[in-house]
Amino acid sequence: MGSFADIRANYQRIRREVPDSVTIVLAAKTRTAEEIQAAIEAGATHIGENYVQEATAIQAQLGKMADQVQWHMIGHLQTNKINKALPLFDVIQTVDSIQKAQAIDKRAESAGKDCIPVYLEVNIGSETSKHGISPGEHESFQSYLENLVQEMSQLSHVRLEGLMTMGPLFGDPEESRPYFQQTKALFDMIKSLSIPGVEMKYLSMGMTHSYQVAIEEGANMIRIGSGVFGDRE
Ligand SMILES: *Cc1c(COP(=O)(O)O)cnc(C)c1O
Repeated sequence: MGSFADIRANYQRIRREVPDSVTIVLAAKTRTAEEIQAAIEAGATHIGENYVQEATAIQAQLGKMADQVQWHMIGHLQTNKINKALPLFDVIQTVDSIQKAQAIDKRAESAGKDCIPVYLEVNIGSETSKHGISPGEHESFQSYLENLVQEMSQLSHVRLEGLMTMGPLFGDPEESRPYFQQTKALFDMIKSLSIPGVEMKYLSMGMTHSYQVAIEEGANMIRIGSGVFGDRE
């Protein structure tokens, strides 16, 4: 647990360290409203939450302050939680199938969202323990991805704006580099398709232990938890 002063100092140090073009999403799972408030007061602009229930409670506690920042869903989103998630989040980073995208599309309008930006979550290492679309599960991942993106571009209340990946959770950040390179290549491939209705703007990869490598490999959005808030219990 860091003190509020530590949270402020950590956020501002990382904000100064990374280029202005890189968006920092603070991964706020398990953190209290007071800790998140300290980060917002220090200048944080984007908050990531993993669970709908936690996001509901935190936003209620933050009150008006919650409106100062963008909220990103960075955890696995179950279809039966989409209705509750939509009013809470500005961006859903964890779309992992056309069915999920369609389910969001179907519910967005009635939740008062004309169009919600989403990213595709790529399980770049095809690890069974992780969510996201896995290259290893498809004969030709490139054509699978092209089809998926084409189908998503048909949805009027969902707009694909990026890719998100986790990569290895621990260890030497150099071990993450090839995964980040592969994700960047997929990002560029989708971008080069120039599909109307798809606007590839954000490559969300890199966490506390790996964000420097992620930025070197083209991330323009990083998700930082323990590096700002301190170690999780
Ligand atoms: C917790 C989390 C992070 C941040 O992890 P840290 O190692 O604490 O920086 C990033 N992305 C997701 C999806 C997370 O759940």
